[in-house]
Order: sequence, then structure tokens, then C-alpha cells
Amino acid sequence: MRVRVLGSAAGGGFPQWNCACPNCRAVRAGAEGYTARTQASLAVSGDGQNWYLLNISPDIRAQLEAAPELQPASSRASPIAGAIFINGDLDACLGALCLRESTPLNFYTTETIQRGLTSKNQFFRTLQRFEGHVTWRALKLNERIALALPRGGESGLDVEAISVGGKVPVHLVGIETDDPRQNIGLLVRARGTDQALGFFPSVAGPSPELEGAIARTQCCFFDGTFWAEDELPALGLGERTAREMAHWPLSGEAGSLAWLRRSMPGRRLLIHINNTNPILYDKSPERQQVLAAGVEVAHDGMELRL
Ligand SMILES: [Zn+2]
Repeated sequence: MRVRVLGSAAGGGFPQWNCACPNCRAVRAGAEGYTARTQASLAVSGDGQNWYLLNISPDIRAQLEAAPELQPASSRASPIAGAIFINGDLDACLGALCLRESTPLNFYTTETIQRGLTSKNQFFRTLQRFEGHVTWRALKLNERIALALPRGGESGLDVEAISVGGKVPVHLVGIETDDPRQNIGLLVRARGTDQALGFFPSVAGPSPELEGAIARTQCCFFDGTFWAEDELPALGLGERTAREMAHWPLSGEAGSLAWLRRSMPGRRLLIHINNTNPILYDKSPERQQVLAAGVEVAHDGMELRL
């Protein structure tokens, strides 16, 4: 399986348009040790020709132009077969509307997430321009299914959805209720193998189910949104704590970094990193703690093979 990191930042990207926190100021100024990042998404391929996107961020156009393997080789023949969405947050799926130019695609997600995206949402009708334009396929929790190609045939990959807690997207509060199918992590495997790629960019906290899933990964991208529980309030950037935003902070004895260190061996990479997170600075003590725990920090354009 081939994997490309299209984007590694949390919602808003790095820098974020309306933010002048110390990190955003430093990256805008071109300070050494800071690297700009687009919003989190991966591209995966089982055969090196057909690619599935894990989330489609609002930065998708720039991400595709930076990735030669994801560009069409002939007239309107995109190698992108479709996408899998881990929740209905706009940074995870808004880019789907930017891929509206009449290429058949398969979209996989839970029925709950799909309802939140398409129900009463006229914009999504732009992906129904003809029969078979976008085909939605339902993921059920803990069930491994093959990823099909939109024009028929198999991609050589399969996927399994794992519930990771969390909550409804901000724009659905008061409309949809919290549900285990609102926020998932993914295990992606090449057909016929048991070693999985994990994609868990939004994790509310630990659970036996999460631990069992992570243990089955050879390589796992994990929620690196916040370093500290009070990261935003401490910077005067908001009232809500990390856990109130359904993200498990990295630091502390009960933090995800200590948990990742204890979890199974294998490659661990942080993704979906918020622009306030001190690990964005290469030389920060927090970055050193991450590296000392044997955990990597994903960056845009990174390529892996499993
Ligand atoms: Zn910022």
C-alpha cells in the first residue's frame, strides 16, 4: 500500500487566516523551525494507480496539484476513485464539493455522517449531476468491506470503521444527536493482509475498542490536535478545553502521548495538528517529548509504503 500525507493540520490549517497566535505569527514570518501545513487528509493506493482519499479537506485543490501521482494522465481520467469520511466536520469533507467536475466517485462513510452532510443540503446536489456521479456506500462499525472502483472492479484495499467517541459537528448541534457513528477512525488494509494502516485524526479519549484497533496497525496516524487540555483558553483564543472539543490532548499522565508510547510497537505519526500546538515548532521541548516517545509528527507531502 502506498500512502501520501496530503495535509497534516487541524481545521483552519497552519497558519489559520484569522489567527495571530505565536505559532501562526512565526510561520507567516518564515521563522526557522516552522512549516506551513494544509488541513488533514491522506491518499492511499493498493495498486499504485487508483487512489482513495481519507477525508477531503477544503485545501484539496492545492493538495492534488502538489501530488503528481494524483493528477490525471489523460483527458479527464483522474486516478482518484473516491473518499472515506471520518466525520462531518467541514475540515474533513468540505473539499468534496470542490471535486464536482463530473468524475464518478465512491464515497464511504457511516449512514449517520452521510445524513448530516447531505440531508437538506442543496450544495451536495452538485455531486448528483448524473446517474452514478457520486455513489454513497455505508460503513458499519467493526465491519471490514472492500473499496470498489466507481467504474467497476476492486481497488485492492478494504476498510473498517472504528467508533472513537466524539460528538456531532458544530453546525449540527441541536439537529443531530451524539452517536457512536458520528466520529470514526479507519483501518485500511491491502486485500489479503492483516497489517493495517490506521487513520485516527479525531479521538475523544481512550477505550478498549480503540486500543484493540490500534494494536492491529502497522502504522497509525493519530490525533495530534492539542498539546494541552487548556490550550485555547490559556492563549485567550476561546473558552473550550480540548476534551470539550472531543480531542484527547497529548500531554500529561492521562494524555494520548503516554498512551501511544504504551500501545503496540509500530510506526505512530501525529496528524490533525492545531495551529496553537507547541509541537509545530521543531525545536520546542514538547516536540522533543514526542520524538522521545518514539512518535513522529506527520508533514504535508510525506510518503510511506506499507
Ligand atoms: Zn494560530
